[in-house]
Amino acid sequence: MNYSKHSNNKKIKKIKSKSNKFTTLISTVFFRLLILSIILAIVVGASSVIGIANAIIDSVPEINFNNMIPKGYTSFIRDQEGNVIQELSVGDSNRIYVEIDEIPKHVRDAFVAIEDKRFYEHNGIDIKGIFRAMYINIKEGSLSEGASTITQQVIKNNVLTSDVSFERKIQEQYLAMKAEEFLTKDEILELYLNTAALAQGTLGVEAASKRYFDKDVKDLSIAEGAVLAGITQNPQKYDPVIHPQDNKDRQKVILKYMYKQGKISKTQYEVALREKVYDNIKLVNDDFQESSNYTYFVDEVIRNVISDLVELEGYSTTQATNLVYRGGLNIYITQDQEMQKIVDDEYANEENFPPFSDDYKALLRYDLSAKIGDEVKHFGEEKVCNSDEEAIAYMDQLKAEWLPEGAEIISEYHTITPEPQSSFVLIDYHNGHVKALAGGRGKKTGNSVFNRATQAERQPGSTFKVLAAYLPAIEKRGYTLAKVFDDSPYVIDMPGAGRYNPTNWYRHQKYDYWGLNSVRQGIKWSMNILAVKTIFDIGIETGFDMLKELGFTTITEQDKVLALPLGGLTTGVTLLELTNAYGAIANHGTYIEPILYTKVLNHDGSILIDKQQKTKTVMKETTSFLLTSALEDVMISGTGTTARFPGMHLTGKTGTTNQSKDLVFVGYSPYYVGGIWLGHDKPEPMYHNRYYHTYIWRNIMQRVHEGLEDKPFEMPEGITTANVCSISGKLPVAGLCDKDPRGSTIRAEYFAVGTVPTEKCDVHVKAKVCKESGLFPTEFCPEDSLEEKVFTSRLEPLNPESWDPARPPRIKDYEYELPTTMENEYCDVHTEENKGIKELNDLLKKVGDKIKEDKEKRENKRKEKDLDSLLND
Ligand SMILES: [Zn+2]
Ligand SMILES: [Zn+2]
Repeated sequence: MNYSKHSNNKKIKKIKSKSNKFTTLISTVFFRLLILSIILAIVVGASSVIGIANAIIDSVPEINFNNMIPKGYTSFIRDQEGNVIQELSVGDSNRIYVEIDEIPKHVRDAFVAIEDKRFYEHNGIDIKGIFRAMYINIKEGSLSEGASTITQQVIKNNVLTSDVSFERKIQEQYLAMKAEEFLTKDEILELYLNTAALAQGTLGVEAASKRYFDKDVKDLSIAEGAVLAGITQNPQKYDPVIHPQDNKDRQKVILKYMYKQGKISKTQYEVALREKVYDNIKLVNDDFQESSNYTYFVDEVIRNVISDLVELEGYSTTQATNLVYRGGLNIYITQDQEMQKIVDDEYANEENFPPFSDDYKALLRYDLSAKIGDEVKHFGEEKVCNSDEEAIAYMDQLKAEWLPEGAEIISEYHTITPEPQSSFVLIDYHNGHVKALAGGRGKKTGNSVFNRATQAERQPGSTFKVLAAYLPAIEKRGYTLAKVFDDSPYVIDMPGAGRYNPTNWYRHQKYDYWGLNSVRQGIKWSMNILAVKTIFDIGIETGFDMLKELGFTTITEQDKVLALPLGGLTTGVTLLELTNAYGAIANHGTYIEPILYTKVLNHDGSILIDKQQKTKTVMKETTSFLLTSALEDVMISGTGTTARFPGMHLTGKTGTTNQSKDLVFVGYSPYYVGGIWLGHDKPEPMYHNRYYHTYIWRNIMQRVHEGLEDKPFEMPEGITTANVCSISGKLPVAGLCDKDPRGSTIRAEYFAVGTVPTEKCDVHVKAKVCKESGLFPTEFCPEDSLEEKVFTSRLEPLNPESWDPARPPRIKDYEYELPTTMENEYCDVHTEENKGIKELNDLLKKVGDKIKEDKEKRENKRKEKDLDSLLND
C-alpha cells in the first residue's frame, strides 16, 4: 500500500477502465449513489446529478480490499549527508496489529458508540447520520463534515487523501459501500481499530493500550477503553496525557452512550465513571518518558513534518502520523551534529547557569503508586523548591504523609527540572537552515515535551527596538544612523489610555537621560526613549507591518502600542522567529523562512515533501548594512560586550524585560545567527547579574566559529561615508562642532547614498560669557574676563518649568545647554551694585598696600642702619 498522495493521484487518473468483476456491484452501488448524489446536489445546489455520478465513477482509485492492512516500515531521520540520526520507532509498540478477537467487546463498543452507532446496520454510509448532519449544518449555517462512518474512516485513513472536496467525499462514500461488500463488519472494525491515530505517536488500540496503560488491549477496563475511544475524533485535543480533562469529558460522554445503547449495565457505568484512570496514565507516561530519547530537534522535526502533511498536503492527522511513524520515510534534517553537540555540551554545564544562591529554582514532579491494603493508590505532586536538597527532602515528607504503615510501593518517579530555564537557536541565515537548538536545560522528560525555543512565546525586550523601530524607520522613512533624538523627559498623552512616560534602564545610574543622541547611539546603548520617539514618528503601523514581514506569527493587534519597540507584547514571540528575524538583517535584507528539514522521501524513494521556504526581500541591502554597523558597536563597546569573543566580526542586541523576567540576546557573525533566552517557565523576576545568557551565547558561538576565517561584514553598493556632528546629525561647522566643551563632536558615519544630510549643524551655538561667573556678561564685566564659548541649543527646548523641583531630571548634557532664557542668567559677579563695592575694596586695598609698602621701607632703612653701626664697630 502506498500512502503517497501523488501516487494516488496518478492512480485516480489511470483508472478509466473498470474491472468486470465489479460491474454488478457498481450498478447496485450506482443506484444508491444516485440517491445520495441527489441529496448532496440539493445541499450544494450545484452540477447535474448525472455529471457528479460519472465523475465519481471515473476517478475512484483502485483498491485491493483484501490487502488493506498497512505494513509498517521504520522511518529514518537523516542529516544532509544522509547519515541516520534517528530511527522513528517508539519502541515497537506503535505498530502492533491485533486481531478483532483480542479486542474486548467493550472496547469495540466504546468506539462504535461514539464514532458510528449504526455501524452494524448501515452499508458503509449512514443516511440517517447524513440527514442529521445536514440538519445541524443548516441550523448552524456551517458546512462541517459530520457523519463519517467507521467504514468511511477506514477508507479515508488508508486509501484516500483527506481533501475535503465534495468530489472526494462522494468517492469516500462510494468506496465505503464497496468495502462493505467485500469485507465483514468485524474485518472493517479490525482495520479501523488497528489504524486509528490515538495521539502520542500511537496507531491502533494495542499500541495505545501499551502507551497509556502499560497493558494489552485485552486487559483494558471499560473506563480505559472509553479513554481510547475518546481520542479518535481529535487526537491533539483529546490526548489523555496532555489534556486529561478534555479527554475525561469525552470519556464520560462515551460511557453514557454505552449505557444508553445498552452495551453496559448501570452498575458497570457507575463503576467506570468512578475509576481513576488518569492517575495511572500519568504514571505510565512518566515511566515511558524516562526511557524516551528523542532530542528537542527531532521532536520538532516530527511536529513540523506532521503539520506540513496536514496543512500543506491535505492529509489527516491520522494519515500523517501513520506516514511518519510507519511509512518508511526518509526525513532529511538541517541539523549540524557537531554544532548541536557544542550546544548540548554548554547546556549540560551547570556552571554556565546562575548558581544555587542566585535565582535557582528546582521544579519537582513526584509521582508514586502504592498498594495500601487491597487497593492500589496513585499520588502525585508538583512543587517549586529553592534547591535540589529541598526537593528531595520534600519527597520524603510527602512519602511519609501519603503512605500508612505496611504500604507497599509499586512504582515511584520524580523529575527535578532546574530553573531558570533557557533555550538556544542557531541558524545559517544564508539558507534558513536551523543548525542546532536547545529546547531547555536539565533532563528532557520525554518526547514531544514543551520546546522553549520553538513553542514558548516570551517577551523579546529591547531586541525589538531594532526590528520594530529603527529598521522600518531607515527602510521606509529615510532615517539615517546619524539622526538625532533628545533623550529627555517624554510624556505622551494617549487618548483613553492615560499617559505614557517611558524611562531608561540607566535611570538608577548617574543620569536619568542622556540628552541628544543619534540612532547609532540609541542602538548601541539600547536607549528606550529614542526607540519610542522613533516609532511615534514613523507610526506604529509601520513598525508592526515590518514585524509581520520579518515572519513574526504571534504578534497581535493588541501589540500596536508605543511600547512595541521595547518588546512589551501581550503574549510574546518564539526564540526561533526572533533569531531568524535578525538573520534577515544579516542576510542582506532577505528573509528566509527557517526550516528544520529540507525534504521527505517516501518508502519507494519518491518525493513526499520538497520543503519550499518562503523568501522575500524585506529591506534594502543598504539598510541591512547600516543596522549591522550599529549592531557591531553594541558588541565593541555597547551593551553586548560580555557576549564578545576575539577573532570574529560580531553583532548583537540585548533584550531585558521588566524586572528581568526574560533575558534575551541575539547576534550574528558573517556566518551564523544565534539567539538565546533565559527565564523562569512561569515568568518571575531574576536577580542574578544578568550576564549568564550572554556568556553561554559567547561560549557556544566561539566554539561554532572555531577555524572559520574572520572577515568583515560585506559592504554593499550604495553606501557612502560622511562627517557629521553627532549631536545635530547634520554637517559639522568648523569652530563650533569641533569646539564642543566635551571635545569635538564630529564623527564619520555611513549613509545610504542620497541620504547624507545637506543642512549644517544648527544645534551648536557660540556665545560670549564671563569667565568668572560662567554666565552672560554684563556691561560691568571687565574685558579680560570675557570669553567665547560653544553651547548646544536644542531645536526643541527643554521645559524646566514642568519638572518636579524636588527631583529635577538628571540630563547628562544639560550643563552644556545654552539657557533657554536670558533672565537671571547674566553675570552675577560683575553687577552695578558690585561695582561700587569693588571700587571701595580696590581703594582700601590700595591704602593698605601703601601702608604696607611704607612700613617695609622703614624697616629696610632701620636694618641698613643697624648694619652700618655694626660695621663701624
Ligand atoms: Zn554641531
Ligand atoms: Zn562677569
